[in-house]
Amino acid sequence: MLYKKYGNTGETVSAVGMGGMRFDMELPLEKSAELLHYALEKGINYFDTAPQYHEGKSEEIFGIAFQQMPRDKFMVSTKLMPERITDAADAYRKVCMSLEKMHVDYIDFFHVWCIRKMAHYDDAMRSDGLYEALLKAKSEGLIRHIVFSSHQQGDEVKKIIKTGKFEGVLLGVNILNFPYRWNGVKAACDSGMGVVAMNPLAGGLIPQNEAKLQFLAGKNETPAEAALRFLIAAPEITVALNGFSCREHIDTACKVADNARPFTKAELKKVKDNLGEGATSICTSCGYCDCCPKNIPIVKYMQIYNDRVLFKIPEDKLQEHMAFQHQWGLLAEDDSWAEACIACGRCEKSCTQHLPIIERLKDLAKWEKPLNKK
Ligand code: SF4
Ligand code: SF4
Repeated sequence: MLYKKYGNTGETVSAVGMGGMRFDMELPLEKSAELLHYALEKGINYFDTAPQYHEGKSEEIFGIAFQQMPRDKFMVSTKLMPERITDAADAYRKVCMSLEKMHVDYIDFFHVWCIRKMAHYDDAMRSDGLYEALLKAKSEGLIRHIVFSSHQQGDEVKKIIKTGKFEGVLLGVNILNFPYRWNGVKAACDSGMGVVAMNPLAGGLIPQNEAKLQFLAGKNETPAEAALRFLIAAPEITVALNGFSCREHIDTACKVADNARPFTKAELKKVKDNLGEGATSICTSCGYCDCCPKNIPIVKYMQIYNDRVLFKIPEDKLQEHMAFQHQWGLLAEDDSWAEACIACGRCEKSCTQHLPIIERLKDLAKWEKPLNKK
């Protein structure tokens, strides 16, 4: 196993982390808890969960496992969303509930969870809010490090990093979206924060589409292994978080970590070139089209269209996909929807990939039309 320093905290963590969001629903909790023991045996010492994972049972599974794990041999991370608390006392109570469920006296990394727009950050920082409660818990030794998780794009993440209020960040970054997210990763790393990457296999899309994504892989590896290697070996990434549901998943990630070789510039170019080739080409997130008079977040819409092209999302799933993006994903902070496009053509003139942006927006607008605006 490869180990790394978690930012400036002084903690040393395994480059592979175990996330508690993908346990097998069919298994009894005790059986799932055994996976944590196995992960620890394999050298994994970073365990991440949240109160709502696995239909609210994930922290309980962790608790079952932790009772038989030496406390100085692992680190635990959990989370709380600012919008799920009423005041600081409520947040403090919820921190204590997590401690109780997991049978631990302290939590190593506590996340202000799921910042999708700056309003969520402001909510967390308000007087009598979540951050205040976390500071109190930290002063009492119940929490060791306050960190945050975000689904924002790089520039927005940077604003939060600059506040200096956090010691680390959990970001949704992987080999398919890295051009879009990497400036946030770099900013966090450069400011001495730990950077944990979630969703390394793009929600399972990479292993499910290996034939189409062969260009990701080097010699003697699968595209999924390459996607893991990309994060595990990147000096800017501290932990690549994996939602394991069986021992084989743990074995694969540990095998990758044992032979982790960073992507070379040539390999990265190959990935970028392949993502941006052909008639149905992929937006490379270069940002040159950022000139819309209607403030449409074109790059974000084109990222969503990428998913459609790469993974052939079926028509009957697209509305659901758009709803997710508006509530939780890339569009959570945007009020200007695709339908606002007046086809002025400015963006297409600037597009480095010559993408039919207007046509793509029209297509996506169909699927967001039935959704309610926030
Ligand atoms: S064509 Fe549409 S999306 Fe492009 S700049 Fe004009 S209004 Fe914006
Ligand atoms: S200019 Fe084209 S390739 Fe670049 S971000 Fe905009 S749509 Fe994507």
